[in-house]
Amino acid sequence: VINFNAGPAGLPLPALERARDELLEFQGSGMSIMEHSHRGKEYDAVHEEAIALLTKLLGIPDTHQVLFLQGGASQQFAQIPMNFLTPETSADFLMTGVWSEKAFDEAKYYGKPRIAATTVNADKRYTRVPRQDELKVDPRAAYVHMTSNNTIYGTQWHTFPDVGAVPLVADMSSDLLWKPIDVSRFALIYAGAQKNVGPSGIVLVVVAKEFMARGRQDIPKIFRYSTYAENNSLYNTPPTFAIYLCRNVLSWIQGVGGLPQLEAWNRQKGDLLYAAIDRHPEFYRGPVEKDSRSYMNVVFRLPTEALDEAFVAESKKAGMVGLKGHRSAGGIRVSLYNAVTVDNVRVLVSFMDEFVRTRG
Ligand code: PLP
Repeated sequence: VINFNAGPAGLPLPALERARDELLEFQGSGMSIMEHSHRGKEYDAVHEEAIALLTKLLGIPDTHQVLFLQGGASQQFAQIPMNFLTPETSADFLMTGVWSEKAFDEAKYYGKPRIAATTVNADKRYTRVPRQDELKVDPRAAYVHMTSNNTIYGTQWHTFPDVGAVPLVADMSSDLLWKPIDVSRFALIYAGAQKNVGPSGIVLVVVAKEFMARGRQDIPKIFRYSTYAENNSLYNTPPTFAIYLCRNVLSWIQGVGGLPQLEAWNRQKGDLLYAAIDRHPEFYRGPVEKDSRSYMNVVFRLPTEALDEAFVAESKKAGMVGLKGHRSAGGIRVSLYNAVTVDNVRVLVSFMDEFVRTRG
């Protein structure tokens, strides 16, 4: 099937085939990689390769470190303020959807979160990201938190905000690795892997060492970023099989030409799909303002809910899954993560044109 799920999402076939071929016996060792000790040389090589590939692909500078964590991106909503806030200090939030709201709510347990910009509308929805001139960043804030891509509302920052000298923290769960980025602009980047990088069960973190050093030392060790950094993400048993699968995906990305190639494909995919929506504006209604449109999650509605349902049911018969919108947003959502090919999108676009012809 063609998998348009928002997460967990499809993985590139070569990465899965490699896992299949090695599942029972990893490199002649007589057992699966998931049965190897996380302190052994076989697993260690995989762990180091995953870090090295991510570092190379994203161009991560020496000032930053890669960490592998668990607990999902949602745990980061709490772990970041736990490390970097006190009851007296504040953090600024750029509110662009459900995920930033959740991050904001968790920060209340540790400090004083403040809204530095929001694009929520009268329907409590979000159809764009804030403009630079709408940001009211407090220079004393411990950090500014943003969500680079809003998986549910289908919006994405195409120019990262300028927050001056305040450390910028970004939830990139649904668009990390969609294109090259300048990592040096961020104090901390985190992403649940299950959309663009690998399976669920692992969170990738890229953190500035200088920022990490400001982390609180009076919280349990297991929640300190510095604990993972000092132990190269091997403080306790990491999710070894998930890291192994990420390694396979990262190695595939490297093999096809790295992030410039992925960006070219992703732009082609998004442009094809938005062109299909714009060809039939009376039928496919995209709520998102054009300059905030996401290249990872494309949302639209049909004229009635019954047509939305028919669209999902008929696309399934045509071999496409995962097109139903998020339960809080409704409509249709097409997730175009790295494993979705340009040809997959062409199949969907033909289906959309045909659906208008027969139902429009
Ligand atoms: N942040 C964003 C942008 C997401 O899309 C999601 C999940 O869809 C999350 C956070 C939550 O991730 P998790 O389920 O790994 O906690």
